[in-house]
Amino acid sequence: MSKENISPEKFILQETEEDAVFNLSLRPLTLNEFIGQETAVKNLNVALKAALQRNEPLEHILLSGPPGLGKTSLAHIIAHEMKANITATSGPAIERAGDLIGILTNLNKGDILFIDEIHRLSRVVEEFLYQAMENFQIDFVIDKGPYAKTIKFNLKVFTLVGATTRSGSLTAPLRSRFGLFYHLDFYSPQELAKIISNSAKILGVTIDEPACLEIGNRSRGTPRIANRLLRRVRDYSQVHDFKKVDCKIASAALDALNIDKCGLDALDRKFLRSIIDNFSGGPAGIESVAASLNEDTETLIDCVEPYLLKTNFLKRTNRGREVTEIAYNHFNLKPAKQTQKELFQ
Ligand code: ADP
Repeated sequence: MSKENISPEKFILQETEEDAVFNLSLRPLTLNEFIGQETAVKNLNVALKAALQRNEPLEHILLSGPPGLGKTSLAHIIAHEMKANITATSGPAIERAGDLIGILTNLNKGDILFIDEIHRLSRVVEEFLYQAMENFQIDFVIDKGPYAKTIKFNLKVFTLVGATTRSGSLTAPLRSRFGLFYHLDFYSPQELAKIISNSAKILGVTIDEPACLEIGNRSRGTPRIANRLLRRVRDYSQVHDFKKVDCKIASAALDALNIDKCGLDALDRKFLRSIIDNFSGGPAGIESVAASLNEDTETLIDCVEPYLLKTNFLKRTNRGREVTEIAYNHFNLKPAKQTQKELFQ
């Protein structure tokens, strides 16, 4: 999707074609270049070294976490560190079991098969994958009716790296076939500043440290967004003929994009305001909020909510979503419950 087709609300959420092109050049190649996610990186490092020492393929790995945090990058790093080939696909792209057979039978010993959005595999394809993951075998049926015959096909030992934004949606049988699990969490502004500084060098942008931190602060804890904002800041400084990006320039460029000081974009703010204005601050069911915003529920759950929950703008209770006092303060509003209390005083 081109940059021009994206509504301002969705600027932050959607992966653009431009992202895809730049992400290739900005993607870290080795585990050493991968910034942050210390626990996951440390444990993955041990697993990689152990497998290399034993000269064995890695166990199947499940990477989980919100979009843009580095799951695809890690899958490529794993392949690079294991000196293995990687075949990348995604859950929705494998429509039929036949598509999966084609992919699996083309894998060589030690290859990495990366399946993004693995929770979106169809049930039939998923069941087919179980046997491939467990025994490195697949059965396929040829002919029909009384002539039907099952043929066993031995696969080469491969490593499946699955990525998901929703580890909770994975079925138990699929989950149980993974041996290693790594969850990626949002990055700190300092970690993002480091990523931005590295990306700026690759893109040839002269930028100072406070400017990197300013962009880091407003990147929703997400490297993909940090890199994207850096490119927008680069456009801004180029058009205004600034030779070096400082904090003031970065801040002006981000203000122009409607990204506020807490890194919330237009859709984040609309989401919070909808709960405040239409549901008196909540609790509200996610479907009702999605309907009031005319947005897709999945987009809200996968892309909008995780950061708002992490930064305590939002609470999830068993009765629904509730905004917090922090959210009210952000909009310079008084919490609804407080206003009601004041009425009775
Ligand atoms: P995901 O697969 O989780 O959606 P990606 O791996 O596609 O995320 O990451 C998006 C972009 O963010 C990458 O192209 C890369 O440039 C950058 N990135 C992600 N994580 C890191 C990291 N830890 N260090 C440096 N850059 C990163």
